[in-house]
Amino acid sequence: MTKFKTIRGMNDVTPSEVSVWQFVEASIRSIFASYAYDEIRFPIVEQTELFSRSVGESTDIVSKEMYTFEDRNGDGIALRPEGTAGCVRACLENDLLRVDSPRLWYMGPMFRYERPQKGRSRQFHQASAEVFGIDNHNVDAELMMMATNLWDVLGIKNQVNLEINSIGNSDTRKKYKNLLQEFFQSFSSELDKNSQRQLTENPLRILDSKSKKIKEILVNAPSILDQLDSESEDHFNKLKDLLTKLNINFEVNDKLVRGLDYYNKTVFEWKTKDLGAQDTVCGGGRYDDLVGQLGGKDSPAVGFSMGLERLILLVKEYSKDNVTTETELDCNFICLTDDSVSYALINAEKIREAIPTINLKVNLQVTSANSQFKRADKSGSKIALIVGEEELKDNTISIKDLAIKESQETLSLDQIINRLKKLY
Ligand code: ATP
Ligand code: MG
Repeated sequence: MTKFKTIRGMNDVTPSEVSVWQFVEASIRSIFASYAYDEIRFPIVEQTELFSRSVGESTDIVSKEMYTFEDRNGDGIALRPEGTAGCVRACLENDLLRVDSPRLWYMGPMFRYERPQKGRSRQFHQASAEVFGIDNHNVDAELMMMATNLWDVLGIKNQVNLEINSIGNSDTRKKYKNLLQEFFQSFSSELDKNSQRQLTENPLRILDSKSKKIKEILVNAPSILDQLDSESEDHFNKLKDLLTKLNINFEVNDKLVRGLDYYNKTVFEWKTKDLGAQDTVCGGGRYDDLVGQLGGKDSPAVGFSMGLERLILLVKEYSKDNVTTETELDCNFICLTDDSVSYALINAEKIREAIPTINLKVNLQVTSANSQFKRADKSGSKIALIVGEEELKDNTISIKDLAIKESQETLSLDQIINRLKKLY
């Protein structure tokens, strides 16, 4: 028989690993809520064209990494490689941008056909925030503040560093692209095919190159900050001032660009030295033209996305103690005869109704009392409830504190509930 395996680059999360995911997800939810951001949900598949039009045809994401297919109708569909395009599509389709300036968040799987390695998978997870309708630097700062607070809650503040840059308006980028092409002319013999192609098709992409050689060459490349239009420059200066006032540490990296075409003005990333080549845990920026490009009324916008797999690697390595471990099994219902199982199921329902916070597991398979007690002990259960022939006959339940020998007592259901209530 063929043994089925997960698709390459797509990972299971087993119950023992789920606690760290839940810790990270719950922390993210509570931070977003405390800044009054609203959750939005949208499908994981969209029309392929939505991504090629927004992320950009010549980006790695669209040209190499997208999972695309035709559905039975022959329509071109893609698994979402990122969330911003779908979020903007959903906002336009549901008319969310007309009245208010929504501050939104979402979390979920993204898909990119990349070489799987530590911190890089083909199904991965992002948590993101997007804000529409606010063009000033204050919202850029709020997003950075929010993420900084999250690193603190996750206990990884010392593992990540914020880098910011401004890539100006389209004019800035046009001028800068020309300068870059000129600069690289004298290095053309050192460029591989891919970089050559990038340089003609989308020169800014070369700044994002992972090649060591290119990175070395880039040190002396012209700075985009020297080409900023006055509005972008003013925006960037105000942002830097405000970040300083807010005590948010940052470094200006004038070679920082992002792997997606829709950004303008502010771009930012939190990087870590602790995950090898997969060093970015969160990235974002302004995309003031995207809403218009996708057919909406022009609206300024800014957002970020963080990669949960990378955050979780950091949390596991540097912040284990913060993770609340698996929920302990508080109470174990031990059934000593076949007939007692249904009796236990019925009474367990009444107990859960009376004590909704209880964590009560009914043993549905009757094994020896000894092995059931052992299992209850091992699972961390504090209390055992026991039903055997006697209890069934007398309509009672026995209760035992597993930490105390000889503590077993036989009581009525009401008495059991009262006893348990005192313990929780
Ligand atoms: P990288 O340069 O590492 O490929 P990226 O620039 O492609 O990252 P973004 O598109 O900015 O990444 O996505 C935001 C975040 O999502 C990244 O900073 C990273 O934490 C995470 N991420 C992106 N691609 C992957 C992946 N294949 N596996 C795991 N996490 C990912
Ligand atoms: Mg990438």
